[in-house]
Order: sequence, then structure tokens, then C-alpha cells
Amino acid sequence: MTFRAQILTLYPEMFPGPLGVSIAGRALEEGVWSCSPIQIRDFATDKHRTVDDTPAGGGAGMVLRVDVLASAVDHALTALPDAPILAMTPRGAPITQARVRELATGPGVTILCGRFEGFDERIFEARPIEEVSMGDIVLSGGEPAALMLLDACIRLLPGVMGAASSGFEESFENGLLEYPHYTRPAEWEGRTIPEVLRSGDHAKIAAWRKQRAEDDTRLRRPDLWERHEGARDQPASGARRKTKKDK
Ligand code: SAH
Repeated sequence: MTFRAQILTLYPEMFPGPLGVSIAGRALEEGVWSCSPIQIRDFATDKHRTVDDTPAGGGAGMVLRVDVLASAVDHALTALPDAPILAMTPRGAPITQARVRELATGPGVTILCGRFEGFDERIFEARPIEEVSMGDIVLSGGEPAALMLLDACIRLLPGVMGAASSGFEESFENGLLEYPHYTRPAEWEGRTIPEVLRSGDHAKIAAWRKQRAEDDTRLRRPDLWERHEGARDQPASGARRKTKKDK
């Protein structure tokens, strides 16, 4: 089954772009996924093909018009009715690996790319659109965000990555950062590889990796660590999480 990516954009020539090479490029050639960029401007109705206008209330920049966006979204819905529509916006919910994995098991995704100051807010009230952010940064357009999201989905599609299991060992899959890696040379500029990794003792290696994943997550990403610990404390029944007072 082909994972269908539909991208609503003012710059269709940006797709597949970097997703046309390497792992994603091979998968595209093999038909594992398909890439259909759609020009938002084609849904403009005036002779200048206008897609934007000045912000209500004043201020800098331009805003994508809701009527043009709605026509483009409706077209996308007709072409790919079962796929969720995700709008790229810094105001959206931060993307997670869990959401990426869900998307990758579905029929595909329609991605709405913003430009200028972004979208007229009414599009989100009137159409089933999930607002998603690629992190607390501001890009000049939704296209690089779309490429990033698609890359994350594509590598999880069946047959795309070499070792079938490798996808599950990565950072975030179990709520932790991954442990650090090393390879030859065994000594470089006086620095060696942790002895345990050269011991051949698989149980010890697994224990070391687990420990490092936990330590590094606690130190580097206290936010992830807190969620991980919270999930562990949560009884499977869904009962109230224990507070310090309860213990
Ligand atoms: N005025 C907006 C930023 C607009 S940037 C604000 O301050 O929230 C122009 C477009 O780039 C956005 O509409 C969105 O599609 C895209 N974009 C910018 N940063 C992004 C991010 N962190 N995640 C996803 N999309 C982003």
C-alpha cells in the first residue's frame, strides 16, 4: 500500500526536494510513498491569483486568505478523504514521534504549508485541520516543516529501513533519548571507547545502554524525563497518579 503525501503549498517545486534522494528517494521510486504537491495559488479566484491580504487590525506582513485556503483544503479532502490534514504552524501542538508513528500507519497525510504571517484563523474553525509545530523556532515557510514531517513518516514505512527492528531503538520511541554510539578506531586522540562495549557481554552492554539512556535523558531533557517517570508511576488501571502525600 502506498503512503500518499499531499502538500498544499505556494512552492510545489520544493517537493520532493531532499526527499527525492537517499532512503526516502528510493522509497519514492519503489512506490512505497507518493508525493503530490498542490499549488494553493490555483485556488485563487481573481485575475491576479491573489492568495494573501493585509492583517485585520494592522501590523506587518500578509495573511493567507481563508476562502482560498478552504478551496485548496476541500480539493485535498476530495482527493484523499481518509488522510488527516496537518497545518504547519508554530502555534500548533509540538510534533511527537508517537504522532509520526500513527501517521505512518495510516493511508497518508495532507500537509498545509503557511507563508508570510500564516493562516487566517477561521480555516481551523471551519475545516478538520490539526495544527502542528516542528519546534519552538520560526521558519520562513511551512515547506521545510513538511519535509521534516514527511521524512520522519517515510522512514517508518514497511521496507524503507534496512533492519526491521531499528526504528524501535531510536530516541523517543520509549520516551527516552537513545544511548550514545561509538565505532572504530578504538582509540582516537587519546580517547577510548567505553570498555563495556568491547567486552562482548551482551547483558552488560544492554544494562550500560539503558543506564546511559536514562542518565542522558535526565540531564539533557528534564521535560522528557519527567514525563517518562510520570508514565511509570501511573498505574495501568488509569487510577489517580500517586502524589508525595499518598506515599
Ligand atoms: N507569524 C507566525 C509565523 C509565520 S512563519 C507566528 O509568529 O506564529 C510562516 C510559516 O512558516 C507559518 O505559517 C508556518 O507554516 C511555517 N512555520 C514557521 N515556523 C514553524 C514551526 N516551528 N513549525 C511548523 N511550521 C512553521
